[in-house]
Amino acid sequence: MAKRLLLSFAHPDDESFGMGGTIARYVNEGVDVSLICATDGDVGTIPEDMQGQYDTIRELRLAELECASQKLGFSHVATFGYRDSGMMGSESNEDPKCLWYTWQHDPDHVVKQVVDVIRELKPQVVVTFNQYGGYGHPDHIAIQQATEKAFDLAGDPSYTASDKPPYQPQKLYYTGMPEMALRVMLFFMRLRGKDPRRMGVNKDIDFQAVVDNVEPIHARIDVSKYMDTWEEANACHRSQGGGLNSRFPRWLQKLFTSKQGYTRVRPSPNGSSSIEQDLFLGAKVDD
Ligand SMILES: [Zn+2]
Repeated sequence: MAKRLLLSFAHPDDESFGMGGTIARYVNEGVDVSLICATDGDVGTIPEDMQGQYDTIRELRLAELECASQKLGFSHVATFGYRDSGMMGSESNEDPKCLWYTWQHDPDHVVKQVVDVIRELKPQVVVTFNQYGGYGHPDHIAIQQATEKAFDLAGDPSYTASDKPPYQPQKLYYTGMPEMALRVMLFFMRLRGKDPRRMGVNKDIDFQAVVDNVEPIHARIDVSKYMDTWEEANACHRSQGGGLNSRFPRWLQKLFTSKQGYTRVRPSPNGSSSIEQDLFLGAKVDD
């Protein structure tokens, strides 16, 4: 009897920042939790205070992922080794080695990679980004679309990604966005005269679109007992600002993040408004 959960994300840090509390909880409950990390997170530069420790940004990001994997307790981490893409329209998205370029020109290659992992690890439950990729990042959108296709194809014997036998996972979720926190942030952005459509260091994050693309929540996972492990995993991703949450009082963090929401995609919720408290609810676990 083994429960297996597969997360399919794009960058080293997506797993911790996005759902570290949920991962810590399921690992603690004895679930095999594995991760697909499609890119090496190799865009950007090594922060000044970390110079000299790593030769490349790729090495640094993968070391941070390894640190987070240890804290969270993944059973398996599959990396596809794509280069990072930039936000929509970036010049770097013309690099044939980046995920977005590959997704535009050879999508089946990416789908096959995800199918391969699903058939090997046999998860009952799979989680990926929402359709807007959280905040519109092309790599997030690419892996979300590839994962949803792979979910539907992995059990199809006529779809031959590899020599592994077909396997059909039972449930697919998107990570939910903390809508209340986002709306509060939107309110304050407007109050301070900022344009919510041009946020982030490079002014390329459309915060209004993030809020407009929030999807309904069908599961809420209580992670209040796992905030410390979650914080430790976040802190591993120091080059990405991980650990900065600790500047906020713990009660405020708990208010917004102690229950992580998920959107159920398969099986379709069919308008049901009841909220699951376990991603494995109703899943058959028989081997
Ligand atoms: Zn990401």
